[in-house]
Parts: sequence; structure tokens; C-alpha cells
Amino acid sequence: MLIQRGGLKVVAGLGISGVAAVNFLHSHGYRVAVTDSRANPPGHDQIPSDVQTSFGQLDQELLLQAEEIIISPGLDPKLPEIQAAVAANIPVVSEIQILRRATDKPIVAITGSNAKSTVTTLFGLMAADAGKKVAVGGNLGRPALDLTKDDPELYVLELSSFQLETTSNLAAEVAVVLNMSEDHLDRHGDMMGYHTAKHRIFQAVKKVVYNRDDSLTRPLVPDATPMQSFGLNAPDMNQFGILKDQDGTIWLARGRERLLKSADMYIQGTHNVANALACLALGEAIGLPLESMLDTLKTFKGLEHRCEFVKEIHGVRYYNDSKGTNIGATLAAIDGLGAAIEAKGGKVAIILGGQGKGQDFTALRDALSKYAKVAVLIGEDRPIIENAIAGTTTLIHAESLQQAVELCQQNSIENDVVLLSPACASFDMFKGYSERGHQFVDCVNALV
Ligand code: ADP
Repeated sequence: MLIQRGGLKVVAGLGISGVAAVNFLHSHGYRVAVTDSRANPPGHDQIPSDVQTSFGQLDQELLLQAEEIIISPGLDPKLPEIQAAVAANIPVVSEIQILRRATDKPIVAITGSNAKSTVTTLFGLMAADAGKKVAVGGNLGRPALDLTKDDPELYVLELSSFQLETTSNLAAEVAVVLNMSEDHLDRHGDMMGYHTAKHRIFQAVKKVVYNRDDSLTRPLVPDATPMQSFGLNAPDMNQFGILKDQDGTIWLARGRERLLKSADMYIQGTHNVANALACLALGEAIGLPLESMLDTLKTFKGLEHRCEFVKEIHGVRYYNDSKGTNIGATLAAIDGLGAAIEAKGGKVAIILGGQGKGQDFTALRDALSKYAKVAVLIGEDRPIIENAIAGTTTLIHAESLQQAVELCQQNSIENDVVLLSPACASFDMFKGYSERGHQFVDCVNALV
């Protein structure tokens, strides 16, 4: 281990990653304390008894005693208690920073506004199928500092902008910002702040993957850094992209080489073709064999709540995209599903709404005008959404998710799609996107 045992490490914010940070630091011989504004933070019973705790408020005095503060991604570094520590020259770092310091194993680092979990999971499977001893986690699934227990030869990390805000010189083997659309502006202030946070993933990076279709994903890195790109267009030599046959067949391709028909993947929709191409580019960067990666692509079933097919009732297909918590994700879902049913005359009945996180919903107008037959609005930011999308399609308000599902059914006919892709956070009505998705599935299953 490269770390040195020194003064007090204070973990700010418990929760899943805070628990992992406390346990990791404790097991490596540090003096550790933890503070959380909640009186009974989740995980308080999962840390060693000799760790000093201060719950009920962020303990300013304790924070000022720290040699270093490890801040949980859920806490805003702009909080006055944290800023007071910064003013006292106390370093504030993420748990990802601690991992970077603790290991010299390669890290594949993945961020973006959308598709992080899908790409991280798929890429983790590709690496495992290719025989790598890989540990997958971070913002998804297991917290980063838990992964060290596996002693992997490769880390695959999903990183959020919150984690990246307090991570420096990650020195990833390969890193990617998959796409950039508005999200979390309530925390980052504006797109500039969000963009700056995301691009910290490229600090000291060895190889870069970027998205040709989204210029905001291309970093400024030293000229010598190898760059590989993916995009939903014909690739240049050595790049990843798509080639189309005259009969409309779409191929995932590298340069002029056709690799795999998109229809041979289980996950569907153009956005998932982009996700698959991103994984191939990442895999190439760390030397995974192409054939093995293509095999993984054929069998990957996708993740729950991400354009997940639920059921067909009277010729209407129902999709749960509860993880569509921002406009970029919802656009991908409407465009992807809308284009697929257009030829048969089908349209989309979409459920939108919840907490809008300061996004500009007018960005949905074109897709709704083109593909939607009705938008049923739920949740607290209904008025904002209604204002932004008025005139694009029929708008109906619903007081509950159940009512919204029933209204969608009443307004749909054969070949239509009913889609929950709210473009909003769920916390006004649900515990999280997962509860919202499960309730949607229950409501759909209750339909006759
Ligand atoms: P994240 O971890 O970044 O939130 P997920 O893989 O969980 O990403 O997917 C989140 C949402 O984004 C889902 O609604 C999913 O359907 C949608 N999505 C998946 N891939 C893309 C993409 N390439 N572009 C836009 N949206 C996408």
C-alpha cells in the first residue's frame, strides 16, 4: 500500500460509499471519524465500534480537526461546513481519490449524463468474459473502496459528476464521457460547471475514448494521448461506428469492417448501439479480444428500468424507462422507440414528470411533436413541463402513477407504445427511480 498513516481522516456523509470509506481506512490503520447531518444515517451499524461518530449535524469542529476529509458523493462541497474546512487548507477528496492512492492497478473510468450504468455493466461483463479478474462498481452497485477486497487486476468504475468534483489526477488507463446533456444543474450551477466536473475524469489519463456525435465529450489532452472515437455514423479508418446496407440493416463497424448486426444484440434502440460501440472502443484500449467482446454483446440483456420491455397488452407494448431521469435519456427513449414503431403507424404515449432539476424541457418539443400521441404529466413540476411542451401533443394531468398508466392505455391502440420515461427525479412521489419503475410494472400488470 502506498498510503501513509498520519492524522485523522474524517468521512463526511455515511451511506453506502461512506461506510465503505470508513471500513477501508480503518482496516488500513488510519484514525477515522465520521459525521453526518442525519441522526441515524444509513449504515451507522456497519462500521467498527472504535470509529468516532458525530451524527445529527455535520460536525464543524470535527471537520476542522481532519488531516483530510473524505466527502460522500451525496454531499455538496459548497456546504458551509465543508467550505470552512477548505478555507483552513484541509484537503477534501472523494473515495475515488483514496482508491487511486491505494492501488496501482489500471482503472477504466466511465462517466456521462446517461448510459453510465449500462456501459459500465456491459463493459465489466466483456472484461470478465475475456478472462480478466475485474471488479466493477463506483457510482453503480458496489462502492469503489469495497472493490479492493477482490484484489482485481482491473477496476471498471462508473463515476458521477459528484465523485469527479473531488477527484484529481485519476490517471485512468482509459476514460470516457459518454454523452453530455443537462442534468444536476441544481448542484453544478450551469452546464459549464457540470462539464468541468465531468472532464476531471481525463486528468492524467493514458488513453481517451470520446463520442463523435457529441463534441462536449472530447477532451483537451496532450497531443500524444491516444484517442479512439465511437459514433452513430460511418467510422473513419480504425474508428467505431455504424454502416448501413441498402436493405436498411445496421452494422456495428470498425473502419470499413462490419462486426455485428445491431439486430443480433439483445438490447435494442439506437442509443444502445452507441453504448455497445463505446464498450468496443474501451475494450480495444485495454486489449480485450474483439471476438469475445462481440459474443458478450449478443447475450447482454440490459438493465432493469432502462427502456425495459414489460408486457404487450392488446397490441400495445409497455416500456419501463424509470431511469430516464433527465431530458437526454428521455429523448433517447422517445426517439429510439418512436422510430421503431413509426413504419407501422404506431405512436408513443409517454408519462413525464416529477422533480425537474432545473432542466429546460423545451428540448423535448421536437421528439414529442414527431412521435407522441399523448403526454400524461405527473408530479410536482407538472406546470413547468406543461408550459415548456404545450402544443406539441395532447397533454393530460394525472394525480397518481396508476391513473397515468390507465390514461395511457385509454389513449393507445395497436402498435402504440406506452412509455414511462419521466425526464425527472422521482423523490416527490417515490423513494427513488427503482420504486417508481416497480410501481409502473405493477400498474401495467394490473391492466386488463
Ligand atoms: P446512468 O447510469 O448514466 O444514469 P443508465 O445506463 O442507468 O445511465 O441509463 C439511464 C437512462 O439513460 C435510461 O433511461 C436509459 O434508457 C437512457 N440511456 C441509455 N443509453 C443512453 C444513451 N446512449 N443516450 C441517452 N440515453 C441513454
